[in-house]
Amino acid sequence: FLLTITLVSTNLWSQNNSPQKTEVNRKVSELLSKMSIEEKIGQMTQITVTNFEAKGKPGVFDMAKLDEAILKYHIGSILNVPNPGAPTIQRWKEVITTISNEANKTRLKIPVLYGIDAIHGSSYTAGATLFPQQIGIAATFNTEIARKGAEISAYETRASSIPWVFSPDLDMPRNPAWSRIWESFGEDAYLSSEMGAAMVKGFEGNDVGSKYNVASCMKHYIGYGSTTTGKDRTPSIIPERILRQYDLTLYQAAIKAGAKSIMVSSGEINGTPVHASKRMITDILKTELGFEGVVVTDWKDIIYLHTRHKVAETNRDAVRISVMAGIDMSMVPEDYSFYTDLLDLVAKGEVPMSRIDDAVSRILKMKFELNLFESTVANLKDYPKFGSQEFIDVAYNAAAESITLLKNKETVLPLNKNEKILVTGPTANSMKYLNGGWSYNWQGENSDTYAADKSTILEALQNKLGKENVFYTPGSDFANFDDVEIEKAVEMAKNASKIILCLGEKNYTETPGDISNLFINDAQIKLALALAKLNKPIILVLNEGRPRLISDFEDKMSAVIQCYLPGNEGARALADILLGDVNPSGRLPYNYPRYPNSLEKYNRKYTESLGDEEQNNDATYEKSYSPQFEFGTGLSYTTFEYSNLRLDKTTISEADSITVSVEVKNTGTTNGKEAVLLYLSDIYASITPEVKALKRFGKISLRPNETKTIAFTLNQKDLQFVGNDLKWISEKGTFKIQIGNLTKEFLLQ
Ligand code: BGC
Repeated sequence: FLLTITLVSTNLWSQNNSPQKTEVNRKVSELLSKMSIEEKIGQMTQITVTNFEAKGKPGVFDMAKLDEAILKYHIGSILNVPNPGAPTIQRWKEVITTISNEANKTRLKIPVLYGIDAIHGSSYTAGATLFPQQIGIAATFNTEIARKGAEISAYETRASSIPWVFSPDLDMPRNPAWSRIWESFGEDAYLSSEMGAAMVKGFEGNDVGSKYNVASCMKHYIGYGSTTTGKDRTPSIIPERILRQYDLTLYQAAIKAGAKSIMVSSGEINGTPVHASKRMITDILKTELGFEGVVVTDWKDIIYLHTRHKVAETNRDAVRISVMAGIDMSMVPEDYSFYTDLLDLVAKGEVPMSRIDDAVSRILKMKFELNLFESTVANLKDYPKFGSQEFIDVAYNAAAESITLLKNKETVLPLNKNEKILVTGPTANSMKYLNGGWSYNWQGENSDTYAADKSTILEALQNKLGKENVFYTPGSDFANFDDVEIEKAVEMAKNASKIILCLGEKNYTETPGDISNLFINDAQIKLALALAKLNKPIILVLNEGRPRLISDFEDKMSAVIQCYLPGNEGARALADILLGDVNPSGRLPYNYPRYPNSLEKYNRKYTESLGDEEQNNDATYEKSYSPQFEFGTGLSYTTFEYSNLRLDKTTISEADSITVSVEVKNTGTTNGKEAVLLYLSDIYASITPEVKALKRFGKISLRPNETKTIAFTLNQKDLQFVGNDLKWISEKGTFKIQIGNLTKEFLLQ
């Protein structure tokens, strides 16, 4: 039985000698043998669609420019969204048809591969289903939600005639200030690997050639989220031992799940830009991990080797260095100098033909696998479920399972149905802030595109409680405060039984989202403190992409609820949770810091929190570790009791696996979902062990009084770490399992 499951869930293309694969390889070799060097290098070039826009006419093609790109330079790929942004599926069809017609005029009629940032749904298509951003998906601790969301995104992206998405994000942020944390699955390597692999399966299905699947693109390989400064695209320092133990595992899992492409990080690690790193791209990714898909650069990143990183003296050098490092496709070289430089480099023998053939074979393979030679344009009749209620319900459920209750003093939540509520704060009445970046356009600033029937937090609460019972004033904006506005909020609060204070961040992504201060903006702190003086229950609702510090006023809040960036259905889910119609079940996928200089991760080393110097002893090390909320925090309206933690063996040898089971009972009075987390601690090791590390998780639903047993199997790999020789090793000794408040030890001998 187990064997059957394995076979069904294995991606067809990952079976090395499958007949499909052999057939694709044959077609690739045949086509490659007919191609000129110019046609080959053209395939390696990807241009943004906005380059083809007629002057002063948003969305209208300048056909001469398109001819130049496709007929003269033979370009293989186009990305991005045409102006004025967020086309309908009909409009996308016209765009892709124009491009396909052009490709059909070429000698070999090789289809153009169109790629898009479908980041939380098909987020560049009008009317598509928008899900919580990835950080919220991680907080569900439910891989089926990740898979299903990606499957729907694939369907709606294909309905937009687009076969390739730049998702999932496999960055593992180490600095909470980084502006792209919300695009990731948070700080834990295991949670991120499981979620990333689930998304890849959802995108690619078992047959990426089907009209409902797309090729995924893992990004940003590698170490991108670990900048020392916390600012986007700045250098990282990561010993290879650490890179292998954590960062690389996310890519291994996604490759195993069938990911067809990968995007390279714009950053540098230990002084080498990743786009210039043969070690990272060719030696580790292509050779050691055996990745057979397409390696695409990030935006303009080849030129940046010359202009920003200063490792290449000329653009031509930059092209040579990155192609020799192993990149297969250049995203947005801006002009055609990538093409002309690479032609020259090949002519002069500085880049061997074998490298070009490797790159082009990978690109052609993906085009064949996606069935683009047969069809590039969607038949809209095939996509009746686009934007359907069925899909919206899935997005709603994802939001409902992501929203994380962090504090609920004296059970102030759920609210009573007959309360008078003041809703205030800068995020209370905005669809943009609920969705964040990559929503209809790059930074998500286009508020006109949100359908009128989607609700903001304010609207969702008014729909549930009646307009007469929910009053609103913004109180402050993000950056500026105005005493008059704050005073107005305080006055209005006097008539309310409870205050819903909605704080957080504007929409942003990448470098424009960089911050110098991790604290939530002053204006918002002032509003919180002014309201707190009233001594009324305040429910703090956080709508933010990263954990902005709230320690200045958190103790004055009765409840804290983290929404992340929950997407179009997020406010409805939040309102249902606030009123107790849905029981929260999300858990934090990162440590929420309390202070700017205490940024320990949950899987810290024992010596990371140095504590009080006066009593500098072992005990105080751990005591001084005190994040505002720890990774895995997530409350419920019911209570769960863990019992009977059992191991099938207490002593194991190298080859054994070990099965761990635990009983979980709903001891409260409401239905609830519980994410069950298994942590492992290696008590002593030759490389300082982590205090604990997540090794398994699962999510179960329990009715009041219901008990379920959940079992997990750990393998040798779960007990291992990367040693100084860069190999995975395990060491004999005692290990501790922790689930809920229970622990059990076993011995590896
Ligand atoms: C981002 C990528 C994105 C690409 C294409 C870059 O600036 O770093 O994440 O996929 O643009 O839009």
